[in-house]
Amino acid sequence: MNVLVTGGAGYIGSVCAELLLDEGHKITVYDDLSEGHRSAVDQRARFILGRPEEPGDILKAVETARPEAIVHFAASALVGESMSNPGKYFRNNVANGLKLLEAAVSVGVKKFVFSSTCATYGPPDRIPMTEDLPQRPINPYGESKLMFERMLHWYHELKGLEFVAFRYFNAAGATEKFGEHHRTETHLIPNVLQVALGQAPRCEIFGTDYPTPDGTCIRDYIHVSDLAQAHVLAVAPGKHGFYNLGNGNGYSVREVIRTCEQVSGHKIPTVEKPRRPGDPPRLVASAEKAVRELGWKPRFPKLEDIVATAWAWHEKHPKGYAD
Ligand code: UDP
Repeated sequence: MNVLVTGGAGYIGSVCAELLLDEGHKITVYDDLSEGHRSAVDQRARFILGRPEEPGDILKAVETARPEAIVHFAASALVGESMSNPGKYFRNNVANGLKLLEAAVSVGVKKFVFSSTCATYGPPDRIPMTEDLPQRPINPYGESKLMFERMLHWYHELKGLEFVAFRYFNAAGATEKFGEHHRTETHLIPNVLQVALGQAPRCEIFGTDYPTPDGTCIRDYIHVSDLAQAHVLAVAPGKHGFYNLGNGNGYSVREVIRTCEQVSGHKIPTVEKPRRPGDPPRLVASAEKAVRELGWKPRFPKLEDIVATAWAWHEKHPKGYAD
């Protein structure tokens, strides 16, 4: 298929583009490189440097690529930042997303695959979390992604656009070529591995008084290539709906740090800090629906295997991408 990947220079987008190319799809990457890296764009892909704020830029890219499917990763994706700069999230994730959706419909795109998030649920009533739980986000990041989900619903109802929206839990790990490099790193695993690499003296634990066994937040970490594999399954005709993507195993912040120590062989000093605003205490997926309906099967269910791939990438690219 001819597929347009927005955000294909970013962490998850780069790995998804790589896998789609491996499967024989033709890929155009659209990315403004605000978060992404030019060298994270697979060399086999065509690249369009995006200026999503400029009128007509998104439509022009879609008309140039003439894709059968759009896989939409481009977004702002930091819970903490969304609490201090909500406008950035509604502009980028909702307003620019709407331009892409309109362009998709006008060009006759057959399939739209969207990166949503478990942050659309807010603190869940039960664990593991299934797709039918109420969605009550507690930060603008989750709210902006939920708004896009609702738009997708209406474009399906009214314009017949087939879509798959994936609610990711915590993406982690790397392939041989592509890994996680944010210019300002806020994510737990890369932050902890920076300490293991000797690039930071200690890592911070945000909140030790949560109602969890060791007082720190619990998350469900899922390998980036397992996420990418789900997108490959989703572009096939006939697949449609909302799906969680996670392993169903919850790990606390302290457990993640211990696993990083074991995998890297380095002691990781920590410092306890107050809670980070907007963080729910515990998010663990049930991805039964994706397994059942898409035939998805994660290849990296164990945290140490996920961390091992991240560690291998960071050891090989201690400064991340060059550009
Ligand atoms: N976290 C932490 N120290 C860090 C980064 C993150 O304690 O340096 C915590 C954060 O508060 C959250 C969990 O680790 O409870 C996962 O955070 P991350 O930013 O990796 O992903 P999120 O769950 O926000 O998408």
